[in-house]
Amino acid sequence: MERDINNKLTNLLKLQNIDSRIFDIKKIRGALPDEVQDLEDELIGYKTRLENHVNETGDLTNSIEDYKNKTKDAKKLIKKYKSQQLNVRNNREYDAISKEIEIQELDVKIYKKNIIETEEKIETNKVSEKETKKKIKNRKADLTEKKSELETILSESKGEEKKLNKEKIKSSKKIEKNLLLSYNKLVERQRNGLAVVIVKRGACGGCFNVVPPQRQTEIKQKMKIILCEFCGRILADVEAIKVEKKKKPTKKIKKK
Ligand SMILES: [Zn+2]
Repeated sequence: MERDINNKLTNLLKLQNIDSRIFDIKKIRGALPDEVQDLEDELIGYKTRLENHVNETGDLTNSIEDYKNKTKDAKKLIKKYKSQQLNVRNNREYDAISKEIEIQELDVKIYKKNIIETEEKIETNKVSEKETKKKIKNRKADLTEKKSELETILSESKGEEKKLNKEKIKSSKKIEKNLLLSYNKLVERQRNGLAVVIVKRGACGGCFNVVPPQRQTEIKQKMKIILCEFCGRILADVEAIKVEKKKKPTKKIKKK
C-alpha cells in the first residue's frame, strides 16, 4: 500500500514536471505575438502622425502662397489708389483714398506677420516630422528583431514540444485513469499550471499557505494522497531540510 501511493505520487510529479515545461514553452510563445502586435500597432500610429505632419506642412505652405498673393493684390491696389489720388477733385476725395491706402498698407503688414508665423510653424512641423521618422525607423528595427525571435522560438519549441508531448503520453500511461482525470482537472484550474507540488519551507509549493507539521508528517508517510486544504493541489512530498542529496549538481561524495 505504502509503496503503491509512493509510486503514484512519484509518477504524478514526473508528469507535472513535463506539463510545467510545456506550460513554460506556451507562456514564452504567448508573450511574443502580443509584443509583435503592439509594435505593429505603434508603427501604424506613428505613420498616421507622420502623414498628419506632412499634410499640415502642405496646408501651411499653401497659406503662405495665399498671403503672398493677397500682398500682391494689396500692393496693386495701393498703386492704383495712389495714381487716382493725382486726379482728385477735392480734399474729401483725397482723404477718402488716403484711408483706403492706409487700410491696404495695414493688411500688407498683417500678411507679412502671418507669413513669418506660418514659416515658424512649418519649421516646428519639420522637426516633429524628423523625430517621427526616427521613431518609425527604430520601431521597424525592433519589429524585425521580435518577429525573427518569434520565428526562432516557434521553430525551436515545436520540436521540444513534440518531444515533451510524447513523454507526457508515456508518463500518463503509468497513472490510473481516475487519478489522471483529477490531475488534468486540477492543472486546468490553476493559472500557473501546477497541480502537484511539494511542501517547501513548511508551505504549499502552489499557494504558499502554511502546512502544519502534523500534516507534513502525514505527507511524508505517503499512506494516502493529501491535498492542500487551501488550493486543493496534491502535496506529493516534503522538501528535505537537510543537505539535499538529489539536487546537488556535483556529487563529491566518494563511495568507498
Ligand atoms: Zn496550496
